[in-house]
Amino acid sequence: MRCPCHSGELFESCCAKYLTVTVGGQPGYPPTAEALMRSRFSAFALNDADYLLRTWHSDERPESLELDPDQQWYLLEILGTQRGGPFDSDGVVTFRAHYRSAANRKLRDSFTETSSFAKVGKQWLYVKALDLQ
Ligand SMILES: [Zn+2]
Repeated sequence: MRCPCHSGELFESCCAKYLTVTVGGQPGYPPTAEALMRSRFSAFALNDADYLLRTWHSDERPESLELDPDQQWYLLEILGTQRGGPFDSDGVVTFRAHYRSAANRKLRDSFTETSSFAKVGKQWLYVKALDLQ
């Protein structure tokens, strides 16, 4: 299966390395803020709320997360990145996420967000939306 994050890679060689739902083995660490963003999009697409909470900075993380089963996340576009590389401790990613209704696939929408990320130890974490359009 192609990775839900639209990297063009197979799921197993892309975000599956990081997600909680991965069967067997220790989850790895995304090397960049963009890779974390991609893996979080895949987690939205695969309903992996545990992973979303685990990769959310503790200062901003909600107590729990209910994912809407009608929301199908089908396309991620990375529009820009600042820092967020393997040797950085913070980064910014601007992306557009597209979703559709599972009940009526013609109902589609998207939003664009600029998000901040921080690296704590080996783990990149999502901090918060800086700008939501
Ligand atoms: Zn991926």
